[in-house]
Amino acid sequence: MVLRWLRDRRRRALSASTFPPAWGAILRRFVRQYEWLDDAERDRLHAFVTIWLDEKRFEGCRGMEITDEVRVSIAAQAGIVALGLEGECFDHLKSVLVYPDDYVGEKTVPIAGGGELVTKEERLGETWAGGSIVFSWPRVVEGGRMRDGPRSVVVHECAHAFDLLDGDIDGVPPIGSSGRRRSWVASFEACHQRFLDALDAGRSVPLDDYASEGLSEFFAVASEAFFQSPHRLARFDEELYDRLAEAWRQDPRRRVPRS
Ligand SMILES: [Zn+2]
Repeated sequence: MVLRWLRDRRRRALSASTFPPAWGAILRRFVRQYEWLDDAERDRLHAFVTIWLDEKRFEGCRGMEITDEVRVSIAAQAGIVALGLEGECFDHLKSVLVYPDDYVGEKTVPIAGGGELVTKEERLGETWAGGSIVFSWPRVVEGGRMRDGPRSVVVHECAHAFDLLDGDIDGVPPIGSSGRRRSWVASFEACHQRFLDALDAGRSVPLDDYASEGLSEFFAVASEAFFQSPHRLARFDEELYDRLAEAWRQDPRRRVPRS
C-alpha cells in the first residue's frame, strides 16, 4: 500500500515534469502517429514515456546499444496503444530486451503420443509471462514509421501484454464484468471465424495469416491493424473494429488519415 502510494506520487511528479525537447524530436522522427495526437493525448503520451523510461529496464542483446532513440521510440509506441487505458503502464513488464535484428528463438512443439520437439524459429518480438518483452529494433522502426502496412511489433507484443493482465494470454483482454466479457468473447470469436472463412475462401484480408494461429494471435495481429490501418480494418469487419475499440477504449480512425 505504502509502496503504491510512493509509486503514484513519483509518477505524478514525472508526469508533471517538462518533456525533454530532444525526446520530442525523436518522436517526430520515429513515431509517425505522434503528429496526429491532440494536445491532451500528447500530454498523456509524454507522461507514459517518462514513466516507462524511469521504471523499465532496457537491455541490449547481441551488442545492441540502448540509446534514447531506442527507449523513447519503444515507450511511445506502447504509450499510443495505452492512451485509452487510464493510468495503465503494464506494470508486470519489468524488462524490455532489444536485438539489433530479427533473432532466433526456440519453440517447443508437443508430439503426438507424448514428448516434445524443440525447433528454432526466426522472431521479431515476444512477450514472456515472467515480465519481459522482446523486440527486433529494425521492426520497431518500421512499425513506428508505419512502413510495414498494418504490421507493428510493438503493438503486437503490447497486445499480448494487455491480454496477460487478466491472468493468461488467451485472446481476451480485461474487459469488465463477466456478462460484458461473455458477450465480447462471443462477438470476437465470430469475427475470428469470419476471418478464417475469408482466408479459406482466398479473399483478400487486411491481416497477416499469423492471425489464424488461434484467438490470442488473432487479438494481437488484429490490434496491429486496428492501430496502423484502422480504416481498412473497419471496412473489412466493422464488428471486429468495434470489439477492439471497446477493448482498447479508443478510436484510432479519428486520428489516422484515410490514405
Ligand atoms: Zn504473438
